[in-house]
Amino acid sequence: MADYAPILAWIDAQQPRMESLVSRWAGINSGSGNIAGLDRMVQELTDAFAVLRQPITRVPLPPRQVIKADGRMAAEPLGAALSIKARPQRPLQVLLGIHFDTVYPAVSEFQLVQRSARQTLHGPGVADAKGGLAVMLIALEALEQSPYAVNIGWEILLNPDEEIGSPGSAPLFLDAARGKIIALLFEPALPDGSLVGARKGSGNFVFVVRGKAAHAGRDFHTGRSAIVTLSELVLALHKLNDRGPDITVNVGRIEGGGALNIVPDLAIARVNIRCRLPEQQEQIYRELDAIIRQADAVEGITVELHGGFHAPPRIFDDAHTLWFNRAAQCSMELGAPITWHDSGGACDGNRLSAAGLPTIDTLGPVGTGIHSFAEQITLPSLAERAKLTALLLLKLAHGEFGIS
Ligand SMILES: [Zn+2]
Repeated sequence: MADYAPILAWIDAQQPRMESLVSRWAGINSGSGNIAGLDRMVQELTDAFAVLRQPITRVPLPPRQVIKADGRMAAEPLGAALSIKARPQRPLQVLLGIHFDTVYPAVSEFQLVQRSARQTLHGPGVADAKGGLAVMLIALEALEQSPYAVNIGWEILLNPDEEIGSPGSAPLFLDAARGKIIALLFEPALPDGSLVGARKGSGNFVFVVRGKAAHAGRDFHTGRSAIVTLSELVLALHKLNDRGPDITVNVGRIEGGGALNIVPDLAIARVNIRCRLPEQQEQIYRELDAIIRQADAVEGITVELHGGFHAPPRIFDDAHTLWFNRAAQCSMELGAPITWHDSGGACDGNRLSAAGLPTIDTLGPVGTGIHSFAEQITLPSLAERAKLTALLLLKLAHGEFGIS
């Protein structure tokens, strides 16, 4: 049995440093569309991760295609990703990843990072996922101090577009998954400290309904209202929720119409759909087809569908059970046992798991209120989670899992 105590004690001593890193990073707005803010984060992360003493590569991402409010397709820029590799020649390789974008745009009212008396830090992205960036950094720094580090290679991928479905970085993750034994992602832990087990798959869909404009007074009957057809389509989509809790359909945003004296010729619905099983994705595509055919059958109306599933469901298979048990064992040894629960949320881990790479994706700090103005983390969980990841990596590098 190796003595990991000095390295774990070193992590405890990094608690103030981790707190100040998270405060600093959360104070930089990096909404997925804020390219200047994402660039600032790239610079900050390049500086902070330099302590790992490995070359850091900035990877530009191609723009993503979006449907604008006028129904037209347009290219929107994405931030750059960061890639860092250590000892790529070692047979034993681990992938570590997390995003540095947040859901809060540059104009958000939620910008302030505040420490509360009760050992919590409140602010945009403290949990999702800037806390996770600090956890990953300190865990790797700890590994690199150990004599076992030479037995293991690792690759870090930090992406700027996870909160919008990783349109640019998804191929980078699939590329990086090759030849790895495990992926560790640093999304926030569940509020009780648990990891997320199985995850639903997720897709974003845009329905563009076009009708025929007409003067609402003179020529009302020659017009074809896109809003009316979209409304029927929205109700049909919402009815898919009757299938049970496996499938959720959330019509998140609708747009359309203009002056009140014009029959509206354009209406758009933006919809998020999630499901538990891969075969349900196929079922949903068939149902969407039927719904569109029905709407399209109205004379003078056309319906276009854009988007699709961007993250497949994560099935919690034997390989995942094995790795989660190893993490749980580490947590027991650290005196803070953890377990795992299923979640409806999707992340980059869905894609990695579906590509056949076991993935533990909630190794970040314990957080609550993510994607809301109530987002916060429990500060002591920063060092706790860094110790958990470090111990897992140390045991792997030391050969305790029988893998070399
Ligand atoms: Zn996240």
